[in-house]
Amino acid sequence: MRSQIAAQALRRRTFAVISHPDAGKSTLTEALALHAEVIDSAGAVHGKAGRKGVTSDWMEMERARGISITSAVLQFSYRDHVINLLDTPGHGDFSEDTYRVLAAVDAAVMLLDASKGLEAQTLKLFDVCRSRRIPVITFVNKWDVPGREALELLDEVEQTIGLRPMPVTWPVGIAGDLRGVVECATGEMRRYTRTAGGATKGEVELLDAERAAAEEPLYTETVTDELALLREIGADFDSGDYLAGTATPVLFGAARHGVGVGRLLDALVDLAPAPAPRPDAEGTPRELDTPLSGLVFKVQAGMDRSHRDRTAFLRINSGRFERGMVLTHAASGRPFATKYAQAVFGQQRTTLEEAFPGDIVGLVNAGALRPGDTLYADEPVEFPPIPSFAPEHFAVVRAKDAGRYKQFRRGISQLDSEGVIQVLRSDRRGDQAPVLAAAGPLQFEVVTARLTDEFGAPVSLEQLNYSVARLTDEAGAAVLDKESEVEVLYRSVDGALLAVFVNKWRIGVVDP
Ligand code: GDP
Repeated sequence: MRSQIAAQALRRRTFAVISHPDAGKSTLTEALALHAEVIDSAGAVHGKAGRKGVTSDWMEMERARGISITSAVLQFSYRDHVINLLDTPGHGDFSEDTYRVLAAVDAAVMLLDASKGLEAQTLKLFDVCRSRRIPVITFVNKWDVPGREALELLDEVEQTIGLRPMPVTWPVGIAGDLRGVVECATGEMRRYTRTAGGATKGEVELLDAERAAAEEPLYTETVTDELALLREIGADFDSGDYLAGTATPVLFGAARHGVGVGRLLDALVDLAPAPAPRPDAEGTPRELDTPLSGLVFKVQAGMDRSHRDRTAFLRINSGRFERGMVLTHAASGRPFATKYAQAVFGQQRTTLEEAFPGDIVGLVNAGALRPGDTLYADEPVEFPPIPSFAPEHFAVVRAKDAGRYKQFRRGISQLDSEGVIQVLRSDRRGDQAPVLAAAGPLQFEVVTARLTDEFGAPVSLEQLNYSVARLTDEAGAAVLDKESEVEVLYRSVDGALLAVFVNKWRIGVVDP
């Protein structure tokens, strides 16, 4: 008989949406949640408009810029399954965060704007999915407005990223005039209601092939021409290829009108993998029904101004989580009490009582936890660290007011341990002027704002013209130290030696 834990894990689907900014990720997230009826109005989750429960200056900044810096986690139930949707920050500068979120999911939805196809950020994120063997379902969005041809988009996916597209649904009507979608396997059509203004609405009517052919002028043409062609070019569905990461199921829709959103949820439940045993640092899979273990994939401060709290997000990898459990922090061997565990729901928090593999638990007062840390109960385990992006932006940071150096030092060390930014040091530069290394310049703004507001230490930044970093060792450092346009620093979190260069050509010159 299957254990309760394994049975609960089988019901879970934990995924993230990867997309380029503006492809419709926030809209899709809200549409998914609305479809599953867990929120009562669009915007209550983490929408850009009508955002509720804004709790910090940091979020104020986020709101002013209209970008999502924080990662919300959304849990809802659908068809007796528990869906965990992890939000990934949309802005390119926060790709480091996104990377960490992708360490905590079992599947991804690649969201494409039908008029744009694969865009830069999508490609970058897809690469992360590929390297982490995360299977990808593709959702072609905005089919309600004029865009590119469906076949052309599929071709682009295949040519650019080498994933064989396997349409699950196919649009009837060109982009901009969506009548509905055909279920490729059965020929059934979901017809969408159109409003007076021509916009497609989410209401669906299910027609069998015969009725669709009789009532929808474009149906027959779509099925006889396009679906036949798809079959010929080998777009048949194969779930093994999807799970192996060589093919991607493709669905069409329009998130803004809720079109295709229910079908996407069905695809997640039917096709996406449930949580499976995850390999530990030695490569041994941690079986699902072993005692509790999990990976901290994100640490976030200032979510609640009244508490100045720090929340760590734990992805459960094995076992059953119960609030109040005392876990062990693998990195330090210290106990960690989970009295204040929370289910994370958009900006709202509720106390959480239990959780299973695939679920995300928010742990407050998590001052000692860092992204990549393992927590476990009873049976020791440590999961592999989350690889980080190589930084491309560097700046020296100094306290403006020498009298606030203590606050400055505390703030820097806090932001470093949260993984907000990498802090690099060297004897030459000294502790008063560490170098900050970021994947994108917006990270500097977050650091400046938080040091000022949260730690009371206004700072000045001096940009450095380095743009590439490489790991090195003592021997390499000795050689590089004598060169110009390169500098060797150590990363304060782990002591790794990092050589930073003005450009990548310089690397070739000094370090062939
Ligand atoms: P994000 O940056 O990926 O989170 O994108 P948003 O969800 O904020 O959407 C960007 C813009 O695209 C907004 O103006 C949305 O209203 C619009 N949008 C999202 N989905 C659709 C859709 O299905 N059809 C149309 N026409 N617009 C959409």
